[in-house]
Amino acid sequence: MMGGHHAASGAAAWVAVASTAPHALGWYPVTPLGVVTGALLTAGAALLPDLDHHSGTIAHSLPPVTRILARITETVSGGHRRGTHSLLGLAVFVVLATALGTFTAEVPVFGSVAVGAGILSVLLMGFAFKALKIAGGPGRSWFLALVFSAFIAIYAPENNDWLPVAVGLGVGVHILGDLLTHQGVMVLWPIHIKRPRSLARFPVVNKLWRSSGCFSIPLIGAAGSWREWALMVPVTVYAIFGVTVAALTALTGWSPYA
Ligand SMILES: [Zn+2]
Repeated sequence: MMGGHHAASGAAAWVAVASTAPHALGWYPVTPLGVVTGALLTAGAALLPDLDHHSGTIAHSLPPVTRILARITETVSGGHRRGTHSLLGLAVFVVLATALGTFTAEVPVFGSVAVGAGILSVLLMGFAFKALKIAGGPGRSWFLALVFSAFIAIYAPENNDWLPVAVGLGVGVHILGDLLTHQGVMVLWPIHIKRPRSLARFPVVNKLWRSSGCFSIPLIGAAGSWREWALMVPVTVYAIFGVTVAALTALTGWSPYA
């Protein structure tokens, strides 16, 4: 799946789960401002798994930090679409986000500042701005990501679980998005179950269980296909609608449902 579509699916997932408006599920209710900031963070988190590719878009989002991180991630996770695209990778990202979420500092004037969340937010914002083509050059990316993350660090909610929720949701929808392409993902990595040769004559099995050992539900076929666009245009519209409504409510108190 394309980077921009991963980001849009992350934002849409956050709106669906965290907004209490009638167009959402409200399973993890947050304030309208939390819907807006969380949607941006989850959009960034929905790009995290692709940090396993040293020449990918995400690696170039906040140079040189993201390039170094991508090299390390690629090595540790066994290459592109392996460890970071698995259930184990999802668990590791959530644990890391939980750990970072506990780092806070008492700062005069501002009170308790969520330092860990702010640091992770710099990365995630950098990814989101790059994928959504908001950033322009690396200088502007760094500037926007730092300003936005300072805001997150200062005004983050007191409870610490929103960060792992956003990261888990983003990484989860990324894996799901790539699972829908015919290349598939190695969900059970590092367990690598090779498709038995005897099953190769069944075309359906071939499509769902690739010879590479990846699993796939190839509803969108190749990345960037018309089917991917057909699925992602409504998802993107939903994300934009949800974020816009939440932003208007946060700023003016207005709601289309009032
Ligand atoms: Zn991916």
